[in-house]
Amino acid sequence: MNVQLVTDLSISDWIKNVIREDEITHFMEDGKDFINDEKIEEILRKNRNPQKNKVRDIIQKSLNIERLEPDETAALLNVEDKDLWGQIFQAAGQIKKCVYDNRIVTFAPLYCSNFCVNSCLYCAFRKENTKEVRRRLTLDEVRRETEVLVSLGHKRLIVVYGEHPLSDIDYIVDTIRTIYETKVGNGEIRRVNINAPPMSIEKLKILKEVGIGTYQVFQETYHHLTYRKVHPAGIKSNYRWRLYVLHRAQEAGIDDVAIGVLFGLYDWRFEVMGLLYHTIDLEKHFGVGPHTISFPRLEPAANTPFIQQAKYKVSDEDFKKLIAVIRLSVPYTGMILTARETPKIRREVIPLGCTQTDASTRIGIGAYSDRYTEQEGERQQFFLGDTRSLDEVIREFALNGYITSFCTAGYRCGRTGKCIMDLLKHGKERWFCKLNAVLTFREWLDDFASQETQKIGERIINREISEIKEKLPQVYLKFIQYYKRIENGERDLYF
Ligand code: SAM
Ligand code: SF4
Repeated sequence: MNVQLVTDLSISDWIKNVIREDEITHFMEDGKDFINDEKIEEILRKNRNPQKNKVRDIIQKSLNIERLEPDETAALLNVEDKDLWGQIFQAAGQIKKCVYDNRIVTFAPLYCSNFCVNSCLYCAFRKENTKEVRRRLTLDEVRRETEVLVSLGHKRLIVVYGEHPLSDIDYIVDTIRTIYETKVGNGEIRRVNINAPPMSIEKLKILKEVGIGTYQVFQETYHHLTYRKVHPAGIKSNYRWRLYVLHRAQEAGIDDVAIGVLFGLYDWRFEVMGLLYHTIDLEKHFGVGPHTISFPRLEPAANTPFIQQAKYKVSDEDFKKLIAVIRLSVPYTGMILTARETPKIRREVIPLGCTQTDASTRIGIGAYSDRYTEQEGERQQFFLGDTRSLDEVIREFALNGYITSFCTAGYRCGRTGKCIMDLLKHGKERWFCKLNAVLTFREWLDDFASQETQKIGERIINREISEIKEKLPQVYLKFIQYYKRIENGERDLYF
C-alpha cells in the first residue's frame, strides 16, 4: 500500500477486518481464556510464607529441568528469606549452565515502521503521539539498515513493526525477503525473527512460508483489567486476540513462538504467573511451550507521561528475583534480556539464566544507516539503557567467561519447536550448540572483531576447543576439520 494513499477511511476499513472472532473462540474452553485473575491471586495468597523444605524441593525439581506447576512458582515468588533467595539465584545459574552452557546468543532489533493505529499508553508510537516523526522504511532503506548490521557481524535480527495497514503482511514479507537477500562480503543475516502485531492464521501461514525464525508477541500484561486500562482503544484493546496469537501461529506451522511481559504495568508476581500459565496452555495444545520468554521493563519514552505515573515499576532487586523465578519455572526455555537495561544491570542478571541479548542496538526508524549516535526521543519507541557496540559487549562477555554464539543452525536443520525443546530438556542441544558456537565465534573473530576483542576471544575459544576434545571425543575430529576450514576462509559450516 502506498504511503500517500492511506486515508483515515481506508485505515478504519482495514481495522475492521483484522480480528477474526472464530480464531479466538476456537482455543477457549467454556467461554473462558486460560488466565483466571482471581485464581492467580488466590494461588499467590495460598502460597505465602512457604516452608524452607518445600522451597528446597521446588529448587531441586527445577534443577532436574522440569517445568514447575503454578503452586510451586507461586511459592518461589513468595520467598522472603534472604538465604533462600541466594539458593534460588544459584540454582538459576546452574540451570542456565546445564541447559545452555556458557553461551550467549546475540541479535539486533531492526525497526521498520512506526506507523500505528493503537493507543498503548506506554509507547511513543501510539497514534495519539503527534510529536512522533512517522516513517516507514522503503525496501532500499531496509537493505541499507541490514548492510550496517551485517557489517558489524550480526547474523540474527528481530524485526519490529507497528500495527498499521502500511506495515501489513505484504510489507512484512517484502522486508523479510530483502533482509535475507542482503549480503556484504562474507556476511549475511541467517535468521530473521519478528515482533509484529497479532495476525490471522491465514497471514501467519504466509510468514511461515517466507522463512521467519521466531514469532514474538508480548502480552504486555496478563491482568485483564490493567490490560484494558493501558490499551484503551484500537485493535490492541482486544486482550484475547493477542492472548491466542501464538496458538494461531502454532496452528499456522510457526513452531518457535516467543512470549513476554512488559514489567511495570501490573504486579510482577502476577505477571510471572501469567507467563507460566501461557507456557502451560501452549504445552497443553501443541506439546511445546515458548521458544523464548522476554521480560522488558517499562522505560521512559518521549512525550509519554503515563510512564512517570506508573505504580508498578519493578525495582532492580525485584527484577533479579523475577528473572530467577522464570528461569526455575521453565528451565529449558530461552530467556531474552534487552538493551533497555543498563550495562550494570545486564552484568548482574545475565548469570541468572539469560540466554540471548541484543547489542549495538538502535531503535529509531532508519537509525543504523543514519548513524546518529545520540538517542532521539521523537524517532524511537522508548529510551535504551545500553548502546554499546557489539564488539564491546562481546569483549565483556569473553572476559567474564561467556562465548558469544551466532549459531542459526537449529532452525535451518529443522531443530525447532518441540524437537529443540526435547533436546534442551535432555541436555543434548547444549552440545550441538557448543560446537556451533565455536564455529560461528571463529567466523566473527576473523571477520569483524577489533584487535583487542580478538585477543580476548582467542582465550575463550581455546578453552572451548579443549573442552570439546575432552567431552565430545566422538565428534572432535569432524569438528576440528570444520574449524580449520573456517580458519581457511570457508563460512557457514554447522552441525
Ligand atoms: N507493535 C507491535 C506490538 O505491539 O505487538 C510490536 C511491538 S512493539 C514495537 C515492541 C514491544 O516494545 C512491545 O510489545 C512492548 O512490550 C515494548 N514497549 C513498548 N513501549 C515500551 C516502553 N516504554 N518501555 C519498554 N518497552 C516498551
Ligand atoms: Fe503500536 Fe506496538 Fe507501540 Fe502499541 S506497543 S503503540 S501496538 S507499536
